Amino acid sequence: MEKLIIFSAPSGSGKTTVVKHLLKTFDQLAFSVSVTTRKQRPNEVHGKDYYFFTEEEFAEHLERDEFLEHEEVYKGLYYGTLKSEVERLWAEGKAVIFDVDVKGGINIKKYYGDKALAVFLKPPSVDVLMQRLKGRDTEVEHELKERISKAQEELKYADQFDQIIVNDQLNITFVTAEKAVRSFLESAF
Ligand code: ADP
Ligand code: 5GP
Repeated sequence: MEKLIIFSAPSGSGKTTVVKHLLKTFDQLAFSVSVTTRKQRPNEVHGKDYYFFTEEEFAEHLERDEFLEHEEVYKGLYYGTLKSEVERLWAEGKAVIFDVDVKGGINIKKYYGDKALAVFLKPPSVDVLMQRLKGRDTEVEHELKERISKAQEELKYADQFDQIIVNDQLNITFVTAEKAVRSFLESAF
């Protein structure tokens, strides 16, 4: 059965942390590697964390209608999921797990309906979100401000998801997320 699991949340809520944990826990899951035009971070690997494209490359794929969804997530920074990525992972017999922004998550859910479980990972508060983003130390001040103002907007869309998980204590979040994924993977629908 072809299935998808979407984790969306404001930047800094803990999506990457939780999705990495789920990938270690469930053999059936495979990560949908997105395309981005943002700069590669020192710990990131091309083809594993993202496909790092130039703007020109991104535009070429867009023109050929190769994206399942795409977004200018931050000013001048484009992100998108290639249709071929989902097909590739399904062909390997995997359920596909996504780490995408809130709009992207809603779009993927709309497209795939019951084949997809859409989870919104919520920070305990905007203050905690700010601390986590600062602690990650991957953005300069004006980027931090942009991410926090986008986060406040994104929090309004939580109700459009199948499930909301508040990421307060990480060990509890892991267990709750595992439970949600396990019951979705086991469901026959
Ligand atoms: P996202 O992928 O949503 O942007 P990350 O997974 O990169 O978020 O998490 C942002 C930062 O917060 C990271 O430094 C991560 O280690 C930390 N973090 C994630 N979850 C928790 C948690 N429950 N408690 C404390 N710190 C957390
Ligand atoms: P970051 O730059 O921190 O890796 O990601 C910034 C935001 O872009 C995150 O909210 C992340 O989930 C989102 N994102 C990553 N890949 C995609 C994608 O393919 N599509 C959309 N719409 N958002 C994405």
